[in-house]
Amino acid sequence: MPDSLPLFYSPGHRRHAPADHSDAPERVEELRQAALDFGARACAPGDFGIAPIAAVHSPELLALLQTAYRRFAQLKEGPRPAVPDTFAVRESGGARRVAHNIWAQLGHHCTDSLTPILPHTWDAAYAAAQTALSAAQALYESPLVYALTRPPGHHAYRDLYGGYCYLNNAAIAAHWLAERGRRPAILDLDYHHGNGTQALFYERADVFFCSLHADPADEYPYYAGYPDEMGAGEGEGATLNVALPADTEATAYWRALDWALAAVDAVAPDALIVSLGFDTLAGDPHGGMRLSPDAFRPIGRSLAALGRPILLVQEGGYLLGALRPALLALLEGLT
Ligand SMILES: [Zn+2]
Repeated sequence: MPDSLPLFYSPGHRRHAPADHSDAPERVEELRQAALDFGARACAPGDFGIAPIAAVHSPELLALLQTAYRRFAQLKEGPRPAVPDTFAVRESGGARRVAHNIWAQLGHHCTDSLTPILPHTWDAAYAAAQTALSAAQALYESPLVYALTRPPGHHAYRDLYGGYCYLNNAAIAAHWLAERGRRPAILDLDYHHGNGTQALFYERADVFFCSLHADPADEYPYYAGYPDEMGAGEGEGATLNVALPADTEATAYWRALDWALAAVDAVAPDALIVSLGFDTLAGDPHGGMRLSPDAFRPIGRSLAALGRPILLVQEGGYLLGALRPALLALLEGLT
């Protein structure tokens, strides 16, 4: 079974390496080595072009991600990471205007100060989206596929980037599959709520979104991920949020997961896209429930018991050294 696990990965992620930042390239290199040691088959992503990305994100956001660093470099301060210093306010007393000014556009399209745009950020984000798309295509051949994406994606909205995320890799893959008549469900297991993914499918009935995460009353992203957010319009009932205490231990986590998976099973998806975060590991610098690496083995078993094709799309997880045993345990459980 392990040799049937395709691993999609692009070395292009290394070109995006913010200084003094948790989203370090080493994270994904550790996961890649663990997957290869498990017996995964390395696959080079193809190029699906910009269309499947533009189907999910706004033209303004895509243009900004591609040009922000270059435009910033032309400012008198000289080349430096593009990070907003002023954010668009909720109420301006009139229509919100977005000037041509690079500062105005950054503050309009970014949710936080944690997500710099560097010279090759667009290249890395584009490569990650293509990695997710290539893995989605491989799902037609294999029951389990791993898209080892970096930068991550689940905090990126149609028109907003933030939370280390620029393009929403899982959402791009889900929309691509849905356009081809599939009925994917997304299960987000990152420690942080997948606010961008939720927003992208909030009014859609064709992609069920379920997230298990630390209670946003205490943790990033703070403004979304509450249990009373259940979708709207045609998507009413197609969003499910399970907010857990930040110190949740393994048995309670497994129980919540099985409950969530029963809800996923009830909508009978023909593919499960897992937004895979390892920042639920105890000791993670940006999260950390009370999960040991071994706790991921039963998680893998529960996912496999659903009996659907599974696409793993990598999101967060920042505890170097623990990522390897956690991924190995998960893959053992899955297979
Ligand atoms: Zn996270």
